[in-house]
Amino acid sequence: MRILYVEDEKLLADAVTHLLKKADINVDWVADGEEGLRLAKKPIYDCLVLDIMLPHMSGLEILASLRKRGIKTPVIMLSALSEVEDKIKGLEIGADDYLAKPFKTSELIARLNALARRPALRETKTIEFADLKLDVDNRTVNGVSLTEKETEILKMLISSGGKTVQKDYILAHVWGADMTAEYNYVEVYMSYLRKKLKELNSNVAIKTIRGLGYKLMVK
Ligand code: CA
Repeated sequence: MRILYVEDEKLLADAVTHLLKKADINVDWVADGEEGLRLAKKPIYDCLVLDIMLPHMSGLEILASLRKRGIKTPVIMLSALSEVEDKIKGLEIGADDYLAKPFKTSELIARLNALARRPALRETKTIEFADLKLDVDNRTVNGVSLTEKETEILKMLISSGGKTVQKDYILAHVWGADMTAEYNYVEVYMSYLRKKLKELNSNVAIKTIRGLGYKLMVK
């Protein structure tokens, strides 16, 4: 399991990180809220542990920003016992669990293990290519939302495993019976997808094979 831990109290963070690592949990620790959000967007974490009061951006703001983008990585919020309102707010905007400070690290480990085992997180249909994870049912790639057509097209490209997918084929399968659809529709959607892959900082690019179609390649 790999987690991101955003906590600005260094002594606490050091102690918790040490104990988590002893429990075979890989921890990336950062102290700053904005840096936390930047890392939290990456599809590499099984769980995020967010303190609420942080420099530059609060844990609640990080959580809200992630959920708004469709990123569903499980989140455990940390906060002082007195901040009941923060707890309610955190759960409302999509936190999966909440731990009051001070807490025992063994309790945090138990909660992390419980979240990692949660079946709903494991059963979604995802297909992968290099660092891309396409969730077909929820229409997201690495947590970023896609339209129905973008999902269909990316699914074809990923399913072909890096082989060229012909433009004719894409047009016929995605637009089907819509006879008014034209080749430039495919081009327009490729540009949307390229923009999203760029936004994700993915190492995958969509390459145009002139006169033929498109394929995925690792940069
Ligand atoms: Ca804090």
